[in-house]
Amino acid sequence: MQSRVLVHTIVFLFLIEALLARPVATPFAHSGSSSSALPRRSRALVTTVSRRAVTVRQRLRATQAGTLLPTSEAVDRAPTVTNTIPTSTPSEPTPPTSTSTPAHSAFRDPVPILMYHYIRPRPGSDDPLGQRLSVDPATFQAQMDWLAQHGFTPITLSELAALRAGLTPAPPHPIVLTFDDGYRDFYQNAFPILRAHGFHATVFVVTGFVGQERYLTWDMIRELDRSGLVEIGAHTVHHPDLTTLANPESEIRGCKDALEHVLGHPVTAFAYPAGKFDARVETAVRAAGFRQAVTTQPRWATSGDDPLALPRLRVTGDLTLAQFAALLTG
Ligand SMILES: [Zn+2]
Repeated sequence: MQSRVLVHTIVFLFLIEALLARPVATPFAHSGSSSSALPRRSRALVTTVSRRAVTVRQRLRATQAGTLLPTSEAVDRAPTVTNTIPTSTPSEPTPPTSTSTPAHSAFRDPVPILMYHYIRPRPGSDDPLGQRLSVDPATFQAQMDWLAQHGFTPITLSELAALRAGLTPAPPHPIVLTFDDGYRDFYQNAFPILRAHGFHATVFVVTGFVGQERYLTWDMIRELDRSGLVEIGAHTVHHPDLTTLANPESEIRGCKDALEHVLGHPVTAFAYPAGKFDARVETAVRAAGFRQAVTTQPRWATSGDDPLALPRLRVTGDLTLAQFAALLTG
């Protein structure tokens, strides 16, 4: 009995000594049980990391299987999956979000900018100019339906500028719809169709004509602006040929000031009346603070275009739907 007690005591003391020896020997030990403690902890960490890596791969495979994503897309989505798993390196910097990445590389140029005037039943042959400038509401409806069916995304001129600057991601097939002169039929006939599609557009207002018969009222202009769908642009005070004026600044600035006073925010888009401009007029438009200006040069806009001399494609009243489609696909 005494010998068993003695043996137990010796074993107990040996264990105590072994335990007391470990902390002292750990950092600098070259041999013995204490030196194997570090590799064991490392192996434990490696095992933990490996298990997590396996978990990530399993979740990735599950994602791929569940959504039938191509491999490259699955890799792109990998950060989303790993973010849900606790990591052993919490101090790593957070990867940049997609919204902070410049989207300029995604912008596909060129972009068509369409030019409309009246959206109304076409007048008779006694008014050939009115006939040419008027698109029947049913025809306009068919054109907007065609754009929707073919995946176009109508945007405003300011939104195009943001795309060109790489500030916003490019939507599918961007296209700009512009309406000159601020006719009342835009509010009555075009806006409901645009709104039904969720389409954006830019309307160029001649401020000296606001409220006259056939032209938008200030209340309509305010409502369009607040819809979030329509950008109000400037088209001078009286619609003169700016190249013939000794002082084009008053027509340009007067229009901008009137619109900004009513809307309460900057107006940055301008349309040259009848598309007429020269270097002097463009300088005045720039000095007034406009960022985009459109002409009537008939072609698609490219990223190399002067933002104050953007071309536009005219949509005339006699255009068939096939011709309209050819304008945007041919
Ligand atoms: Zn005009």
